[in-house]
Amino acid sequence: MYVFYTFAFILGAVVGSFLNVIIYRVPRNQSIVSPPSHCPCCGKRLKAYELVPVASYILLRGRCSHCGSRIPVRYIAVELITGLSFVLLMWRFGISVEGLFKALLVCELISLSFIDAEFMVIPDKILAVGFIGGIVYRLMDSAGVYDYLLGILLGFGLLLAIVLITGSMGMGDAKLMGVIALYVDWKLVLATLFLSFVIGAVVSLILMAFRIKGHKDYIPFGPFISIGAFVSILFGYQIVNWYAALIRGW
Ligand SMILES: [Zn+2]
Repeated sequence: MYVFYTFAFILGAVVGSFLNVIIYRVPRNQSIVSPPSHCPCCGKRLKAYELVPVASYILLRGRCSHCGSRIPVRYIAVELITGLSFVLLMWRFGISVEGLFKALLVCELISLSFIDAEFMVIPDKILAVGFIGGIVYRLMDSAGVYDYLLGILLGFGLLLAIVLITGSMGMGDAKLMGVIALYVDWKLVLATLFLSFVIGAVVSLILMAFRIKGHKDYIPFGPFISIGAFVSILFGYQIVNWYAALIRGW
């Protein structure tokens, strides 16, 4: 079994290094295929060993081998997060069609979270990939179509209402919830909404308490939806059952 987990981590780290390219280039409107990976500071093209995820960052001690400029910690962070996410998905779904599509969704969530956190925007290009993947997944899956329509209505509908009424979220957040609803059923959509509001509130309060953000600052919501969705994918039904028991207990 450890062989599978090791494989999942390495695969995740390699995919993560590609997500780094997406995170850097998509919001800057650059092509993700050319030019090949290079240092953004001196333009030096990376050698083969410098493309090895995680290990190269540690070997180079986080600096470009040519000009010595700092490589943002984000690079190794994204590789580690993607690697660990793949291990958790392997633990939850094994090697299966479901696990494959959930991995696609998680790649989406990781890239757009980092882009949203830095640029305060969730690019349509990234949502489009998730949308197409989600439609393919739905066509392959035998689950009831109404389950998913309900999820899309709840997820996309609720956030759309918040966008239109309060303006405290962006359209990207609503569209993202719609995409997630293609991958999980309506119960997990509810769990995702619940978790993202709780995590968002807690993190916002902490950011304000430490004066990192002011009361009027815009705090991107995409990362909270992403964390909520990931936790829901792994433990959503336990959370739904726990919550239902809690309400019945009253
Ligand atoms: Zn350099």
